[in-house]
Amino acid sequence: IYLYLLPDRKNNPLVFWRDALRWDSITYLLTAPLGALMAVIYHNVGLWGVLFLFLPVLVMQFVMRLYVHLELANRELRALYEVSKGLEGKLDQDSILEVVLAEARRVVRYHTGIIYLWSEDKGLYEAQAVAGPYKRQLEKSIIIPGQEFLGCLAQSGERAIVCDSKRDPRVQGQPGFTQVHKSVLVIPLLTEKEVLGLFVLGDKRCFAFQTSHLHVFTGIVGQAAVAVANARMNKRLEINATTDTLTGLHNRSYFMECLEKVFNEENLPSQMALIILDIDYLSKVNHNYGHDAGDAAISMVGRAVFSVAGYRGVAARFDGEQFSVLLPGVGEVLAAELAEGIRRSVSSTILETGDYRCSVCVSCGLACYPQDAGDAHGLLRRADQALKRAKENGRDRTEVYSCKDLSGKKKQTDVSLLSRKKGMGV
Ligand code: GH3
Ligand code: MG
Repeated sequence: IYLYLLPDRKNNPLVFWRDALRWDSITYLLTAPLGALMAVIYHNVGLWGVLFLFLPVLVMQFVMRLYVHLELANRELRALYEVSKGLEGKLDQDSILEVVLAEARRVVRYHTGIIYLWSEDKGLYEAQAVAGPYKRQLEKSIIIPGQEFLGCLAQSGERAIVCDSKRDPRVQGQPGFTQVHKSVLVIPLLTEKEVLGLFVLGDKRCFAFQTSHLHVFTGIVGQAAVAVANARMNKRLEINATTDTLTGLHNRSYFMECLEKVFNEENLPSQMALIILDIDYLSKVNHNYGHDAGDAAISMVGRAVFSVAGYRGVAARFDGEQFSVLLPGVGEVLAAELAEGIRRSVSSTILETGDYRCSVCVSCGLACYPQDAGDAHGLLRRADQALKRAKENGRDRTEVYSCKDLSGKKKQTDVSLLSRKKGMGV
């Protein structure tokens, strides 16, 4: 049994030296008395009698080998079970992939393991998890569908084993992974509709992977594919639940959650600013140019809000045509500059709406912690009051709750801010 297991033991982490010892001991324990019996009765029964007694020894060897097979199959199932257990409750993609690569080492000894996942934005497969000494070099590797060996498998969704990359015509002469590793095992992560990714193992020895590994990993990778698809779906749902579809900014409920959270945190920033801005006369844009133009105005203001202040805090579409920006750690002066930056960016942008070109303006209200309010709702109320003052004082301006008008504009009460010209200019 020791000799029988020898080739397996080199590559298979599921076969331990103590297995050979244990199984051999059992064999000797059962067959040694038979041997002794043969020696004793040899004189009486002759050679044929002894050979007859040898039959049970052969049968026993056969049974022991079957037992060894069963035990190994059992261990492979156990590894599969461990992976499922490891995946249980894992909702983020990265930890799922790490579990799969780590658990794969229970089943087979490999040099490098990579899991590639499909990137919708880039239209290719990117390495998402890497295990092995070439981790740093391989982290940025990609697979282009249809190109080279891995790309073809990603396109067809087929599994494959390469036993010797120097001789296998499918990979011969190809650069990259298959050049460095003599043995390669590839299993696609399949969902009902698509090839979500590729699970790739490589080893420097020839014939490191066998068909039995392909079967075990197909189960493991199948589970990972379901978990990754679920994680992606959860992420999408999470984004949808917190994002406004028209502007791509956060929505009101996410903004309110952040605002409450900041005030409930132990390390409350020493200063904080809240800007609320409202598009001036949007109902007229809707009336004059149509609802689509109103939508275009909202999404243009959303872009201005994000590009000027989004990276500094949390920017949201607060209500239909109102936006809010929470700026933790930002003081009044900088916050007022940012609000003015948004206002100027909006008023200098020309909207092309069918035959017409028009521009819109925004009014901004700004309140700051701690001078204007000490809690989330107080700060919101103060910013809203400042916004109201900006509207009353003529619109297209920024009002700071505790200061006078910053833009220094004269009061404007008519709708001249919203001009309408056919062809050119505003
Ligand atoms: P003010 O300067 O006082 O803010 O005037 P306004 O016309 O912008 O404000 P008002 O509150 O009178 O009307 C808000 C308008 O915003 C009414 C509504 O039709 C429009 N609006 C709200 N949400 C959307 C939206 O998603 N798309 C479009 N096109 N219009 C919207
Ligand atoms: Mg408005």
